[in-house]
Amino acid sequence: MDCIGSFITIKGRDWYFNGCSTCQGFCCDGAYGFSLAPLILEDFEAVYRYFPIVFSFLEDTLGVFVLLNDGKNQCRYFENKRCSIYDHRPPACRLYPVSPYFEHLLVDTKCPSLSRTEGRLLCKNGVLESAFYTKRLENFVAKKKETRLFLERMNDRNDFEYIGKIADTSLYVSKHADQNRYLKMHAESLKFLTSYMQVSFSA
Ligand code: SF4
Ligand code: SF4
Repeated sequence: MDCIGSFITIKGRDWYFNGCSTCQGFCCDGAYGFSLAPLILEDFEAVYRYFPIVFSFLEDTLGVFVLLNDGKNQCRYFENKRCSIYDHRPPACRLYPVSPYFEHLLVDTKCPSLSRTEGRLLCKNGVLESAFYTKRLENFVAKKKETRLFLERMNDRNDFEYIGKIADTSLYVSKHADQNRYLKMHAESLKFLTSYMQVSFSA
């Protein structure tokens, strides 16, 4: 298995899913692909109780992410080949191998359980089956825009402290944790950072 993360649009296509029982959990393993997943504001509440919420700058644009692992190993909640926090797993885990990209829905063709011909129907002619649909996808473009506006208001590197790199991504924490409820959740979530990296920061 090489790295996962080869997404294509589901538009106009049928896809089937065959479950995770024979997979060793590639999507839960930083060695195979994902360490960071982008968040929208409504995700904070579910995520900060289990994972660090961190910031990064892509060129000069601020983004916010859930840090799922240390970039080399499996998620700390992957136990006995299962997710030990299944009912509380982050939104990206709930949706995978589906992922929203603005108005598009994508699937990761590297997920070994995806099939074009057999299994449980995931999407028909580009329409996601209800069993794979989550409320997060409702008005997703508007939620993404709301998140972008929120981040634009804070887009100043001086307000962030660099804490290190994971999977070649430079990570930052806010210096102003009391500024709003989202930054409070971000600050609270940082207690989990030590599971991933040696950190010393003042936030
Ligand atoms: S979603 Fe795909 S990659 Fe993830 S555990 Fe299931 S089969 Fe494996
Ligand atoms: S929270 Fe669960 S589903 Fe998500 S990466 Fe960790 S073990 Fe996998």
